[in-house]
Amino acid sequence: MEERELDGDGIREWIADRFEELVRENFRSRIEVGGVIGTLREIERDFLEEWGGPYSRQADVYEQITRKQFGAPMRPVRFELSFGYDRIRKVQNDPLILGEGESQVRLAGRIDRIDLCQSEGTRIYGVVDYKSGGTPKCNSTTVGTGRELQLAVYAMAIEELGLLNEVIGPGEEAVLGHVGYWSLREDGFVSSAGSPDLVKKQADEGWREVIRTARGVIPRLVLAMRRGEFPPFNTDKECTSHCAYKTVCRVNQIRPLEEALGKTWQPGPPDKEGGSSQGKGSGAKGGEVVE
Ligand code: SF4
Repeated sequence: MEERELDGDGIREWIADRFEELVRENFRSRIEVGGVIGTLREIERDFLEEWGGPYSRQADVYEQITRKQFGAPMRPVRFELSFGYDRIRKVQNDPLILGEGESQVRLAGRIDRIDLCQSEGTRIYGVVDYKSGGTPKCNSTTVGTGRELQLAVYAMAIEELGLLNEVIGPGEEAVLGHVGYWSLREDGFVSSAGSPDLVKKQADEGWREVIRTARGVIPRLVLAMRRGEFPPFNTDKECTSHCAYKTVCRVNQIRPLEEALGKTWQPGPPDKEGGSSQGKGSGAKGGEVVE
């Protein structure tokens, strides 16, 4: 590969070129199969190649923001870090275990990227999950209602399973600086956690509350699923007006009836016994929307 002076515009250009080069490399053998599959992959490759330019700009902004926030830029140190069973590599790692007894759940996942920087003697790490579309909101409300759990699970796995050991060394400490989604097509990285307390060496209090919430919600949510509770509900009240799948969707079938039958659903975590969620409305048994 050609060597370049890596500063300013040069870095951005290099990142964009390298991104496109990797996409082409990755797709070369997959396109060679030819036929409809090969053609579809070729279209996908062309589509992905267009992300190189935006990604290089997003990476530049990320570097500037993290330098300002932490005093040093966050840089990637690990990609695709697995916990639990890794289906692609067929490797069994330690799972993240939450809850007890019949509500115990063993979670597996693969963290897209871990970043690290060092500021005044303190190691600070970041957790990044790439998204090809927009970035979901991860906060106490979305985690508390069980709608957005991914980042919280990743952060818990890193802490509880000591996943950073390989990166910073066993027994060494690092403080969670940020955790968030990186939208490749839209705004780049969007953090879900505020700034850490570097004096106390702990993550932002708001984020720690999100983690406490997730720790309680996940086992109850999983137990409800094990009991067969899958309420047809969407918080977006307008979704049925524009969704292509509305003709086969139970939410679309139920909406005209729920008010009349008094069977409405309020989003919320399952109750403490792990039973039905907070179904509300006269006549609605907990979480039951239709019979
Ligand atoms: S599938 Fe159903 S619930 Fe989901 S967006 Fe479409 S209409 Fe709404």
